Amino acid sequence: ATETHQQPEVNIGLVGHVDHGKTTLVQALSGSWTDQHSEEMKRGISIRLGYADATFRKCPGVDEPEAFTVDETCPDGSESDVLRTVSFVDAPGHETLMATMLSGAALMDGAVLVVSATDPVPQAQTEEHLMALDIIGVENIVIAQNKIDLVDREQAVRNYEEIEEFVEGTVAEDAPIVPISAQQEVNMDLLIGAIEEEIPTPDRDESNPARMFAARSFDINRPGTTWEDLSGGVVGGSLVDGTLEVGDELELRPGREVEEGGQTEWRPITTEVRSLQAGGQSVEVARPGGLLGVGTGLDPSLTKGDALAGQVAGEPGTLPQTYESFEMDVELLDRVVGEEGEEIEEISTGEPLMLTVGTATTVGAVTSARSGECEVSLKRPVCAEAGDQIAINRRVGARWRLIGIGTLK
Ligand code: GDP
Ligand code: MG
Repeated sequence: ATETHQQPEVNIGLVGHVDHGKTTLVQALSGSWTDQHSEEMKRGISIRLGYADATFRKCPGVDEPEAFTVDETCPDGSESDVLRTVSFVDAPGHETLMATMLSGAALMDGAVLVVSATDPVPQAQTEEHLMALDIIGVENIVIAQNKIDLVDREQAVRNYEEIEEFVEGTVAEDAPIVPISAQQEVNMDLLIGAIEEEIPTPDRDESNPARMFAARSFDINRPGTTWEDLSGGVVGGSLVDGTLEVGDELELRPGREVEEGGQTEWRPITTEVRSLQAGGQSVEVARPGGLLGVGTGLDPSLTKGDALAGQVAGEPGTLPQTYESFEMDVELLDRVVGEEGEEIEEISTGEPLMLTVGTATTVGAVTSARSGECEVSLKRPVCAEAGDQIAINRRVGARWRLIGIGTLK
């Protein structure tokens, strides 16, 4: 499509077990997801958290759900009306750090849980991701029962019932289950209708100060670029409040570590917004929703290799404080998700935990643990505020496993 894209207004996570069809579904809904963003921006933001924008449309004079489409032209040749543009965050489902999924979840206004009709329910990451949505408080969920082209009617019905049973008592209990084939593009209209219904664009107050969670940061310069041609560092993430405009001043917290007289401390960084990429194009003003690339005046060596991932950006003087250690209330899960019913032991003093706060992931050493609360000293500080939710992971065997949820005191 050559039309200009409008800015996405809502972030929808694609979650579910590996190979259940998340990426295929995003492709079916967004069509041209390779040419929407400048190559550097796209490469930078999408490697770890893939994303793509899709514009949902409706054919005039056609009944629902058949009216819902992503095509610009309706079957009768007329032009479809634009409903809204959404941004899909395609969370990786393979054996990876739960943290990546969780840092994506902090940016999600809703989620599509993709469950393949060909496998018993639940598969490990189906359960793990649903738990993560629960913990992060993502409540607007649509379940896509995928690959129905590969099963017969009887299998499809049985699998549907397994899904219903599995989500009972979870945050997805009332979520609609839509049978689809992402690959054959079957029932895409029903799925779009369900997303329109269940995942509304959140009400946001544009007069609030800008607040952005950084999920990525990078250096877009090719090796060997001469000094005068160098572009400033780029920060990729999502604006959750307010607006950002080219020329705005921007503060990033915790910022950078500076050494002075043998002491090191973290100091906020300030810079200016030099360019904005949203909805696949350069814009003067960015609004919440979708992922955003912010070209800054920062030395690219500061933003290289995700150095600023996990930081919070916004209008100078309006950001929450930086914590190098904190106390949190702790609620442990009943058992390790995805493992064979392994029980979770209490957190003990001295043990390392991996903590996800917003889009920040940091290792913390437990300096004191009591039942229901603990104090941690962080390897890397975080910008956060009292009441923020923290995903708590413990090393179990070779990987970090989600064991509970903390609330910052
Ligand atoms: P992801 O790991 O969840 O992102 O899964 P992918 O989207 O990469 O899909 C995994 C495999 O399943 C690929 O080979 C897809 O072509 C295939 N696949 C995805 N959706 C469908 C579907 O609806 N029907 C069939 N037959 N295959 C599908
Ligand atoms: Mg995938």
